[in-house]
Amino acid sequence: MIVLAITIIVVSIASLIAASFIMSWGLFLKSYCGERLENSKEVMLTFDDGPHPDHTQEVLDVLKKRGVRALFFLIGERALEYPEIVKRISDDGHIIGVHSLRHTPEFTILSAKMVKKDLEASIKILEDLSGQRVNLFRPPYGVTNPSIGKAVKELNLKSIGWNVRSFDTMCENDTDRALKRVLKRVSGGSIILLHDRLKNSAGLLEKLLDYLEENGYYAKIFSKVL
Ligand SMILES: [Zn+2]
Repeated sequence: MIVLAITIIVVSIASLIAASFIMSWGLFLKSYCGERLENSKEVMLTFDDGPHPDHTQEVLDVLKKRGVRALFFLIGERALEYPEIVKRISDDGHIIGVHSLRHTPEFTILSAKMVKKDLEASIKILEDLSGQRVNLFRPPYGVTNPSIGKAVKELNLKSIGWNVRSFDTMCENDTDRALKRVLKRVSGGSIILLHDRLKNSAGLLEKLLDYLEENGYYAKIFSKVL
């Protein structure tokens, strides 16, 4: 009996921990994480952790050249440092979402009140700099918990996850590895997670757009998130 009780407790705790890392479960916060659509060739590109003084501009140059619009989940304090890049993201027709004020691990242990304060401050910065209304959110590290869920709900934000992860931050010097991961998983309805702060961000994006084009896919902002 005791063994069974301990097993149930351990499994429950493990499930809660797993749920905080797996956004698509939506236990603490419902998020739109893309779909697998048989009859569609549409995918959506999302870039996290910007703006970066150099690499975001390189990514924007590629997107402009290829006529692709994307989502950028920006960090509030970084946006304050590079206001002209935030403005350019918006002027180029991309949509800006909030990705916390500082993107530190502490965000995941804040109270709901503090998460709300953090996001309100970030949204104010992003809206002032871009002129856009910001109502999309992506949790730092993809981690959700009851505090984040409550704050996001109170602020009426739409949480956007992904269903194709490039792991580009883990293979910064090997864009082919990141590319292969994406190509293996991509399908119509995919939301692809990329970053615009890496020295090879633009290179990876070029190769990805080549592949998508060659295979009949096209990247756009899904109307569902607007
Ligand atoms: Zn991030």
